[in-house]
Amino acid sequence: MRIVFLGPPGAGKGTQAERIKAAWGIPHIGTGDMLRAAVASGSTLGKQVQEVMARGHLVSDELMASVVEKRLGEPDALEGFLLDGFPRTVPQVELLDRILEVRGKSLDRAVMLELPLEVAVERLLQRRDEKTGEVRNDDNEEIIRERLHVYQDVTSPLVELYKKRGLLAKVDGTGTIDEVFGRIQAALEGLS
Ligand code: AMP
Repeated sequence: MRIVFLGPPGAGKGTQAERIKAAWGIPHIGTGDMLRAAVASGSTLGKQVQEVMARGHLVSDELMASVVEKRLGEPDALEGFLLDGFPRTVPQVELLDRILEVRGKSLDRAVMLELPLEVAVERLLQRRDEKTGEVRNDDNEEIIRERLHVYQDVTSPLVELYKKRGLLAKVDGTGTIDEVFGRIQAALEGLS
């Protein structure tokens, strides 16, 4: 099963991706998580992306291409994956197309988690890391608004793109984690 998750920051993509991973046994590939880990480790990549992330802007497509190509080439991702936070631009969609084409594979669904933007802002302002209780440094109001602008301007057109391909499943992202998870499972029904 090959899935991408779309939706604004705060829609619950990461939380739901973890649920799907647990239920379906497919790797959850969160590009934001990968980049945050790179920043925390102080690697060359981390140093390259740190400032852009702190401003709420997108990391370049070139850098993302190397990160994602490498990750999707790892053994656990060969038979399926759930991409959370990628693709975010049209060139990233095209990159994913090329990676899959070379392997003779295709995407099964693009799941769009819908949430009113004001609800997303509220959720992000309240969000804490599940394990450490820490607040992400880009979860402050100014940067949240910037990230939502970037989402609307650059990423939201991908919803239409995947719709035209017949891959889009829109899911209401309001309500409890369990309610949203139930809707996602229904949207993925029939896939194995
Ligand atoms: P996220 O955890 O998905 O909200 O991502 C956090 C930050 O990582 C974003 O605001 C971007 O700066 C960066 N990022 C994550 N995924 C991508 C991507 N696919 N393209 C560009 N930048 C990304």
